[in-house]
Amino acid sequence: MDKNLLEKAFIEVCIYRKELEKVMNEINEAKKIWDKAQPYIKKIISELTYDMFFTKLFPVRITENRLILTTEFEKTKKSIERDYIDIIEKAVKNVDEYIERVDITVGEQITEEEISKELNSTVNIIENEENSIFNKEYTFDNFVVGSSNEIAMKAAQTVAEDPGKNLNPLFIYGGVGLGKTHLMHAIANSILSKNKNAKILYSTTHKFTEDYIKCIRNTKDNKLIEEFTKKYSNVDVLMLDDIQFLNGKQATQETLFHIFNDFLLKEKQIIFTSDRHPKELSEIEERMRSRFLYGLTADIGYPDLETRIAILQKKAYRNKYCISDKVIEYIAAKIDTNIRELEGALKKVVFYAGLMKQEPTIELVNTALKDDIENKNSPITIDIIVDKVCEFFDINKAEITSKKRTKNIVEARQIAIFLTSEMVSVPLATIGEYFGGRDHSTVIHARDKIIELKNDNPIYKNYINDITEMIKKSKY
Ligand code: ADP
Ligand code: MG
Repeated sequence: MDKNLLEKAFIEVCIYRKELEKVMNEINEAKKIWDKAQPYIKKIISELTYDMFFTKLFPVRITENRLILTTEFEKTKKSIERDYIDIIEKAVKNVDEYIERVDITVGEQITEEEISKELNSTVNIIENEENSIFNKEYTFDNFVVGSSNEIAMKAAQTVAEDPGKNLNPLFIYGGVGLGKTHLMHAIANSILSKNKNAKILYSTTHKFTEDYIKCIRNTKDNKLIEEFTKKYSNVDVLMLDDIQFLNGKQATQETLFHIFNDFLLKEKQIIFTSDRHPKELSEIEERMRSRFLYGLTADIGYPDLETRIAILQKKAYRNKYCISDKVIEYIAAKIDTNIRELEGALKKVVFYAGLMKQEPTIELVNTALKDDIENKNSPITIDIIVDKVCEFFDINKAEITSKKRTKNIVEARQIAIFLTSEMVSVPLATIGEYFGGRDHSTVIHARDKIIELKNDNPIYKNYINDITEMIKKSKY
């Protein structure tokens, strides 16, 4: 065998083993912390509650300052998230102050096999850049092109061909679940397929901000900030996903601005995604917004029926689902929200069919997607949302649309605004008008605040899920 090849193989095995050890460590660490947290928890809750919920909860691993616990039952997860997550987090932080969050999952199993699967999917972790993980499924080949996304696709391919040269920065924007993250990963996968050593760093804006905050919190000198900047600057291609979350974060913006300039100067590619056009990022500094427009801004819209059918067909083919064209067309016609939901609907149908041991038919689709389809028929209005939010927080409707700034009313109002912007397609200005004649930047602020809280805090996530359920169930 060629000596170089041997050497390469050896290095690969070493990296593999290092990763394996890391995951093993994360599992052991989680077990240790969870064991030590037990006495604290037992002190606070009754024996009965402990037996009912906590004996069904198992440590999985520690990832990025998050402790992940798992249970077999969705119900246990819900109850724990609703009533005990604060206690758990406190107990865990008591044992290890670096744990920032505890997440509960359902049915996660940790076996050696699981670990190696996990490891295989992290082959693309670039040395020293632990956060750069690219989804192998997110490729250009797997991206179905239609009129709603062809410009974004073309731009992404151009960037992948020649990063840093023509379209810098590339700014892709559009609604949730329409393929922004997919395209980013596809660019990375494509570049890496041609040049294994390309240094690409993908980060969510959330993670970027978190990193930044951690680094200024922990330092009195500038050393860590330098390191932070180095980490993000020391790559050939930088991808920041969901840049709208930078809204209102002055210091992080400032740092990104410097990194951004450096990339433009050195002709290194930088790619952003956002849920809206740069001009609408109202709380991002003007100088940054105008630089977003230096390269190419491409939007991704809602897919038409033809594209939705093509996406389902591709998905069914790749996963070897046995499903007729007629049924696929029916699902595509019924689910016209976004691609993530479209994929979810297909999975649901296939799961149902498996359960019933039959091939998917139109009737089966109707049963499996009952909730999704019914929601579509009776449109959700701002009124319905506000009613349900008021019911949930036990406040009255006049208060939520008033100018009152009491904490619980502000909170309920922001949640109502967020849900309206998610569930009802009306202009932001109309939403502002409804909630006591506020302007559209207030609406954006409220919406972003809740998105952030929802991502940061499981309590909010639960609130939102519960209220969403209430809204969907309400029949008018
Ligand atoms: P976003 O980042 O815009 O919220 P994602 O990129 O996460 O959306 O896409 C949601 C899901 O839809 C992913 O599983 C992705 O693979 C799939 N998807 C999106 N657009 C397409 C497309 N054009 N063809 C195939 N799958 C797509
Ligand atoms: Mg995304």
